[in-house]
Amino acid sequence: MTTNSELWARREAAVPRGVASMHQRFFERADNAEAFDAEGNRYIDFASGIAVNNTGHGNRRIVEAVKEQLDRFSHCSFQVTPYESYIALAEQLNARAPIAGEAKTIFFTTGAEALENAVKIARASTGRRGIITFQGGYHGRTLLTLAMTGKVLPYKARFGPMPGDIFHTRFPIPYHGFGDEQAIEGLKALFASAIEPSAVAAIVLEPVLGEGGFYTASYAFFRALREICDEHGILLIADEVQSGFARTGELFAMDWVAKENGVRPDLMTIAKAMAGGFPISGVIGRAELMDAPDPGGLGGTYGGSPLGCVAGLEVLKIIEEEDLCARARQIGFSIKERLRSLQQRGLDVIGDVRGPGAMVALEFVHDRDPNRPNPELTKKVVMEGAEEGLLMLSCGLRGNVLRFLPALTIPEQLLEEGLDRLERVLQRLA
Ligand code: PMP
Repeated sequence: MTTNSELWARREAAVPRGVASMHQRFFERADNAEAFDAEGNRYIDFASGIAVNNTGHGNRRIVEAVKEQLDRFSHCSFQVTPYESYIALAEQLNARAPIAGEAKTIFFTTGAEALENAVKIARASTGRRGIITFQGGYHGRTLLTLAMTGKVLPYKARFGPMPGDIFHTRFPIPYHGFGDEQAIEGLKALFASAIEPSAVAAIVLEPVLGEGGFYTASYAFFRALREICDEHGILLIADEVQSGFARTGELFAMDWVAKENGVRPDLMTIAKAMAGGFPISGVIGRAELMDAPDPGGLGGTYGGSPLGCVAGLEVLKIIEEEDLCARARQIGFSIKERLRSLQQRGLDVIGDVRGPGAMVALEFVHDRDPNRPNPELTKKVVMEGAEEGLLMLSCGLRGNVLRFLPALTIPEQLLEEGLDRLERVLQRLA
């Protein structure tokens, strides 16, 4: 048997350290919400490959759909000869996404690529250059999306100069004492100090900050942003790469907003869970904006791979037929209930428990003080969790947030077993 440490030594020799791995444990095989490493150790997976396996590992329906596609053809490039599954997936998403009016969809491969292309579409359709994003936001590691990402370490340092005309403003986080009104004032200050609103093509935000720590933008903040955008002809782009595909208890996090107050984005970026692990991403948007770039201006050899398209069609069916949106809400309820009961039983390191649906986070602090983050404990909990057979991820601008992203197909009993393991770790460390 090859051990994890033998593999780690080979990894260190062969792969640069710039691509960091959270765990020194090598994935061998996985089934729904369980995984096994090279030494045969069993884990309950609360990471889902960073919010990708919402439909579980090795979902038979997805595997069968991809196998069937593999037997027909795996690649021809949509830019050479199109294929029906791409059109069908676009049609399905156009019908479901909370975009105002008629929608069109284009596919790429990664989340960052979707964001890059959303910016291109926004610039081509408005004829403007400026892009506003949020501190603490995450949009990718390619140079344009890196410029949009609002966190210096470990992402941006030493990689400059950054592409120009990207401006950052502060995301409202009431738990950190920074509310919606202050955030809107901050945005207006940006218009006065950095770029005139008439030169801004788009404001890009995650409805729920992902890597930034699972803070949700309020309905009121979305309404205020929409009003500012409408007043100045700016597009509103929702980055749903992490929050999409039933994670928050709706197909998209923007569905919650649209249902509450009718606010809809002009463009949306999607990736991760949309094909249950097959690399495909996309931009969905108002048809007239999507058609702004000239033929040949958008695309890529692999964009909208047929394997991703058939997997994506299956994911949508599974979400609907198994009502994974409702299941996401139940899962989130179970996790939050358990964490809050630990907090009530005197675990003063639990500062906050939050998040829509099954996009749940726990913020570690000292003595329940939001201003005293506890990143050291967060790291220890993730590491000890793995020792207990639980795969988890941290996040947050201050590195003190534990995020829960189990498959939405996880059986309740397995979820409870995972939470028992976490509870043991917390009782030991906190
Ligand atoms: N946007 C958001 C909200 C994300 O969470 C991520 C990935 N964590 C990205 C964009 C970038 O996606 P990718 O890693 O597939 O390029």
